[in-house]
Amino acid sequence: MLTPALTQEFKNIVGADNVFTDDADLMTYSYDAAVVKPVIPALVARPTDSEALGRVVALCGENGLPLTVRGAGTNLSGGTVPTSREGIVILTNGLNRILEINEADMYAVVQPGVVTAKFAAAAEAKGLFYPPDPGSQAVSTLGGNVAENAGGLRGLKYGVTSNYVMGLKFFDTKGEIVKTGSKTVKCATGYNLTGLMVGSEGTLGVFDEITLKLIPPPAHRKAMVAVFDEMIKASEAVAAIIAARIIPCTLEFMDNFTIRAVESYSHAGLPTDAAALLLIEVDGHPAMVEEDAVRVEEICRRLNATDIRVARDDAERDKVWAARRSALSALAKLKPTLVLEDATVPRSRIPEMVQAMQDIAKKFRLEIGTFGHAGDGNLHPTILTDKRNTEEWTRVEAAIEAIFDKALAMGGTLSGEHGTGIAKSCFLEKETSLATILYSRAVKAALDPKNILNPGKVIGG
Ligand SMILES: Cc1cc2nc3c(=O)[nH]c(=O)nc-3n(C[C@H](O)[C@H](O)[C@H](O)COP(=O)(O)OP(=O)(O)OC[C@H]3O[C@@H](n4cnc5c(N)ncnc54)[C@H](O)[C@@H]3O)c2cc1C
Repeated sequence: MLTPALTQEFKNIVGADNVFTDDADLMTYSYDAAVVKPVIPALVARPTDSEALGRVVALCGENGLPLTVRGAGTNLSGGTVPTSREGIVILTNGLNRILEINEADMYAVVQPGVVTAKFAAAAEAKGLFYPPDPGSQAVSTLGGNVAENAGGLRGLKYGVTSNYVMGLKFFDTKGEIVKTGSKTVKCATGYNLTGLMVGSEGTLGVFDEITLKLIPPPAHRKAMVAVFDEMIKASEAVAAIIAARIIPCTLEFMDNFTIRAVESYSHAGLPTDAAALLLIEVDGHPAMVEEDAVRVEEICRRLNATDIRVARDDAERDKVWAARRSALSALAKLKPTLVLEDATVPRSRIPEMVQAMQDIAKKFRLEIGTFGHAGDGNLHPTILTDKRNTEEWTRVEAAIEAIFDKALAMGGTLSGEHGTGIAKSCFLEKETSLATILYSRAVKAALDPKNILNPGKVIGG
């Protein structure tokens, strides 16, 4: 339990200005972007250097204080909501330095609180490319991205965060530094602890330094918007593009409900009468880009696309992606509560999944806008509701379960990129097995015997 003496110790470590205990301040750290019950922490500590971070973790460890690390708090699974009123939140926005960008060996070392887009821009300024680009990249942190194994709009061609984490330094519950991986492109030394830590959602250790792989940027890019007046044809085009062995950098889907919300929010000139849009970007060698763009266009036209709008320059291209990135914010304006899911299916099943979302919306009499990384099989059905309407909320919960069941029946997964957190931990056994959960709990118990690291997340308990 947090005592006045312990509060003082936190102040001694990070400075009184970086410790928050007033209810008005603490309230801000009681929620994140997921729809879960808010819990106000006992104290928020904001270390600004690595040594202070380690000492804060050790202090929690010694005193059995549950701790939740918070980057930008944009996760969509309740990962940064404390599970107890005794909880300590460790804020990483003071640990925001890019420690090294190594141009010769194409890697970077960063602190966990570095904002994703700022890091990508710094890499770009050195002629390098960091592909993972969650829709939240303007605010999300690299620590949060690693802890959630975040994806993004370019995941189809370039993969997700785990594909770029070369190594980590993290604190265990005693505040000891554990080092994983290497700055080399290959590393087979010891267990693959990096693999264990990526996606661990703050439940196994606290990241202090992250080594990230960088790659050369693509020489050329072409973005286009394909307009469809039948939703099912748009989804068939997604499967057909992949089946034709074309891997665009980005292949995003937007249904009419989302198009209208985005257009009224961002005024990007999207056709509001379209049943669905595919937002596509191909990149690489200029000759290949031209060839892929032609083939993508042919496939879309064969599947009855009524229009293909190719971005003429970077400004038009940026407008398309800014509109897509605003989808969540645009939908959030429509109703008090927004539940965004990320169940993912094998890509060939996208047409079925799109149809299933419509059927679920009808069955449970709910407004569901669907958009997302269709090329990855990762749609974001987004339920608009008002949690205060308890009768409707019961239907929302049933719809969420129906979405998961549908995805699992197609050989899919509960989460393509948003993690398990609190929101999905009760569904974990549906996808895995009791043995998987017990095995995971045994790992957690061995590494965190007092269960202080983000307790209650991922595997419950
Ligand atoms: C508008 C919007 C768009 C989004 N688009 C995408 C998308 O395209 N793809 C995608 O994958 N996600 C997306 N997300 C979800 C979210 O942005 C990602 O999960 C992101 O990785 C969270 O980063 P964060 O800094 O906000 O982390 P937080 O939400 O602060 O934390 C996330 C998890 O990481 C843990 N954590 C944070 N820092 C550390 C650390 N130093 N050590 C250990 N654990 C740590 C936390 O405890 C928590 O469990 C979106 C969210 C929003 C609101």
